[in-house]
Amino acid sequence: MLHIFILCWCDTIQMKKKNYPNNNIWNIKDSKELYKINSWGDGYFDINTNGNLVVKPGNGENEIEIRQVIEYLKTKNINTPILLRFPRILESRIHELYESFTGSITEFAYDGTYKGVFPLKVNQRKDVVEEIIRAGKKYHYGLEAGSKPEFIESLFFNLDPEALMICNGYKDKHYIKTALAFSLIRKNIILVIDRIDEIHDVIKYSKELSVNPKLGIRLRLYSKGSGKWVDSGGESAKFGLTTEELLSVIDILSTHNMLCNLKMLHFHIGSQITRIRRIQDAVKEASRIYAKVKEIVPDLEYFNIGGGLGVDYEGSKTSADSSTNYSMQEYTNNVVFTVKEICDQEGIEHPTIVSESGRAVAVFHSLLVTHLVSEISAIHSSNIKHDKYDTPIINKFHRCFMDINTKNYRESYHDSLEYKDELINLFNLGALSLEDKAKGEAMFYGICQKIFKIIHQTRDHSQEFDRINKLMSKRYIGNFSLFQSMPDFWAVEQLFPIMPIQRLDEKPQCFSTILDMTCDSDGEIDKFVCMKDTSGLLEIHAPDKQPYYIAILLLGAYQDAIGDLHNLFGAVHEAHVIVTAKNTWEIKKIIKGDSISSVLDMLQFNKQNLISNIRSMIRESVEDHVISQQTANNIANDIIKQINDYTYLKFD
Ligand SMILES: *Cc1c(COP(=O)(O)O)cnc(C)c1O
Repeated sequence: MLHIFILCWCDTIQMKKKNYPNNNIWNIKDSKELYKINSWGDGYFDINTNGNLVVKPGNGENEIEIRQVIEYLKTKNINTPILLRFPRILESRIHELYESFTGSITEFAYDGTYKGVFPLKVNQRKDVVEEIIRAGKKYHYGLEAGSKPEFIESLFFNLDPEALMICNGYKDKHYIKTALAFSLIRKNIILVIDRIDEIHDVIKYSKELSVNPKLGIRLRLYSKGSGKWVDSGGESAKFGLTTEELLSVIDILSTHNMLCNLKMLHFHIGSQITRIRRIQDAVKEASRIYAKVKEIVPDLEYFNIGGGLGVDYEGSKTSADSSTNYSMQEYTNNVVFTVKEICDQEGIEHPTIVSESGRAVAVFHSLLVTHLVSEISAIHSSNIKHDKYDTPIINKFHRCFMDINTKNYRESYHDSLEYKDELINLFNLGALSLEDKAKGEAMFYGICQKIFKIIHQTRDHSQEFDRINKLMSKRYIGNFSLFQSMPDFWAVEQLFPIMPIQRLDEKPQCFSTILDMTCDSDGEIDKFVCMKDTSGLLEIHAPDKQPYYIAILLLGAYQDAIGDLHNLFGAVHEAHVIVTAKNTWEIKKIIKGDSISSVLDMLQFNKQNLISNIRSMIRESVEDHVISQQTANNIANDIIKQINDYTYLKFD
């Protein structure tokens, strides 16, 4: 027995040596490659010489070390999970979008201009929208509302008079009436007819209110997008008018002498379009329609291509769902070139191109930092014991265990799976003792452990080893809720880059999935961006005495609004970070996350009632002599403190 132990032990040491040969020459460049920071970061993220993650809000000029920000916030009693927002990134993205369109317009000698609008659906937060409007002022960047509440939100902002305010979405007569009424005050409102029935109310209220509105029509194209939101486009889309309906709306407008009010044609074939070809096809089809309609409606001036400009979350530059096979510049080139080509063929004036890109504008500006709390492993360690009295099945397992090497590990794995089945069958038939079962299982895990080391050493990402990865990897629990902070990971398997914010000059030695705080088994991140596109495990550093923080990045689009209160984990603390001078930063604003009472309040539990109910329960126990007055006071003080606390775990 002793003999076996020594053998195993030697083997482990040897594996260690082989596994991490260049531990001491690991540097930040290796981490940059491992986490693919340059592939998905678009220049906004980097690693500094201290091995810490930095954000470059102005795309290059200055950098902010995330760890410093988190440590500073800690001194202000703002603890992780914290969402950091970088308003300057929003500015940089709007700038990039305009530069890109302007570049394409110049390159192809396009006669029209470009005007963007930000779709509120993507992020309705006041500070975010305020920053977008401030940064977009010089470009006359506007807004798009997809619902009545979003339209009402838009009225809060003082848009540049030349910026467009586009009203999309399902409309009741009140939405139509309000939008038309505000067209009297704000000349830039464009009411888009999404469904044919809307036209009647539009005409009725335009007359009633004596407005001369600007109208648009959403087209239902034959062309579809690609990726997860493919069903937003095509013939069976939820919104948009068919060609027949388009013609009948034109007729109706004409009978009411309102043809000159039609200013815009619009289409949107879905978000995160992964293939450039699909965009090109849709633009082709819609430009042709635009050209034909323009002949009937000379006042038509805007060609609105909707959203869909994708983001390469996984940095693979492919048409995978969380990637895109094109850059922003390729997108704008394609759009401008296609519109020009078709308008020239049809001999019509080049329209003003409008786009409603939301994801691409907002996505980079925020990230979540949280710390890993503890570790759980499916299998801890396996104790391999073997002696001459063992039954044949144990002998088989043992031979398999001893013989594994980098050449035969796949075969050994297959054998071991067979032995495992045999072991369980024999046990179920009563042919094995509990000790034999334990011994056999331990050997199986021992085999898995060896294979796990080999597949990570050789970077073998074969799917058949998923089970081994799941069994053998560590699982760290992070202080956050996936459902609150990255709901699309759960809802649509959207990938987000995740990486440690510190120790990036050290080789990470652990492979782990990340579990969240909810008690939902779906609350586990088990798909990560890695060198080979995606991996089921994140490479992180072995724990030391310091808190270990990870960042979940590219959370600025959609996640804020979609996040929910699963297990009553509420909104996280937020801090807005700005650069003040060369590499120095300042926290411009802190927005405290939900307390337990504010979350309960959303579920109709009034805080005062809650407290008084608890107090009377405590009082009864004192009256019944179950607890002393002193204990009662302590319990009451403590619970009141808890009620006002952050919903996440607290470590103080
Ligand atoms: C969602 C949506 C957008 C935004 O799409 P992105 O892909 O985020 O740019 C734009 N327009 C309409 C009509 C939408 O529904």
